Amino acid sequence: MAASLRVGVIGGGQLARMMVPPAVHLGLDIRVLAETEGSSARLAATAVGDYHDAETVLAFARDVDVITFDHEHVPQDVLAALVEAGVAVHPKPEALFVAQDKLVMRERLAGLGLPVPDWARLETADDLSAFLAEHGGRAVVKTARGGYDGKGVRVVSSPDEVADWFAALADLSTGGALLAEELVEFRRELAQSVARRPSGQIVAWPVVESIQRDGVCAEVIAPAPRSTGRVAETAAEIATTVAAQLDVTGVLAVELFETTDDRLLINELAMRPHNTGHWSIDGSTTSQFEQHLRAVLDLPLGDTTPHAAWSVMVNVLGGPATGSMADRLLALMADEPGAKVHDYGKEPRPGRKVGHVTATGAELDDVVVAARAAAAHFEG
Ligand code: ADP
Repeated sequence: MAASLRVGVIGGGQLARMMVPPAVHLGLDIRVLAETEGSSARLAATAVGDYHDAETVLAFARDVDVITFDHEHVPQDVLAALVEAGVAVHPKPEALFVAQDKLVMRERLAGLGLPVPDWARLETADDLSAFLAEHGGRAVVKTARGGYDGKGVRVVSSPDEVADWFAALADLSTGGALLAEELVEFRRELAQSVARRPSGQIVAWPVVESIQRDGVCAEVIAPAPRSTGRVAETAAEIATTVAAQLDVTGVLAVELFETTDDRLLINELAMRPHNTGHWSIDGSTTSQFEQHLRAVLDLPLGDTTPHAAWSVMVNVLGGPATGSMADRLLALMADEPGAKVHDYGKEPRPGRKVGHVTATGAELDDVVVAARAAAAHFEG
């Protein structure tokens, strides 16, 4: 059995936290290198330190069978030091390189002939003026590195609106250039997750719909409504191609736009379990967290058949303005016994993801109502 296998996770956020239960079930020894004491994944944190520091990371990785990640921010020189020291790292540095920089990502995906929005590399305000002129006077500008949850994304109609970002380009940690994209007219946003083992096996979950508010994922419906047939097949094909061509190991989530003229365009890649896959903990035979552990250890992948016709996940952002999380949780447990609650053990701050709830069932309308009612216990 897998009993003696040791997995080291860099980063102590909620993704690392949610890897702990399946690691326990599989009899794995999971260890986390957390950034701070009291991190979301503190239950499994065996070390606290800076993941930018090669010595710290090498010491943490000394006797694990594989190193994997809660996020994509570990610098390439630290990843290289791990590989040099003979540590198995999944996903590999070469794959992570693509996920770490939105310009590199666009270049690689376009190079593979995969469908992406029109885009350009911007080094100067003139580059953006030219792009705007070719795209109806509006564009989405993104910082190449360091963005998350919509920070680092602006819809603009003039270079003045990102003057601060151009001014900061001399700082190479931002990637040295900005990314411009056409403002895609989309009907909805979808996400397709797959898991891939180093030895090549790839397994997909059903494509899901993600509903964003203010650039942040608010709700996920699994599977995406009206996505049987062509949409589901195309989404799975895109993610499978990305995983195989970029040699991604572990879970890969591909965020997609379904355009008003019925195309699927890739927005973003995440090479780790992803918010749009949280439904799988309660809604799929194998969750994305269990699958990620299996994949990075090159163990056979699990069945991803959904338990129910529909799963709906709602994020809890910021936590209650009044009263304690514990009181809200008690009320929720009493009112919605079918809802599954996931508390990330994080200090509530406005807009911060502090947990999620999932409901499952046979009728989509009922499941949406149940999931929203459960999440509403944390509002106000
Ligand atoms: P982050 O890395 O911060 O999550 P994304 O690149 O995923 O940023 O963009 C955040 C959100 O902004 C997307 O989910 C989508 O709603 C919107 N968005 C991003 N790019 C485009 C685009 N080219 N056209 C239209 N909307 C976009």
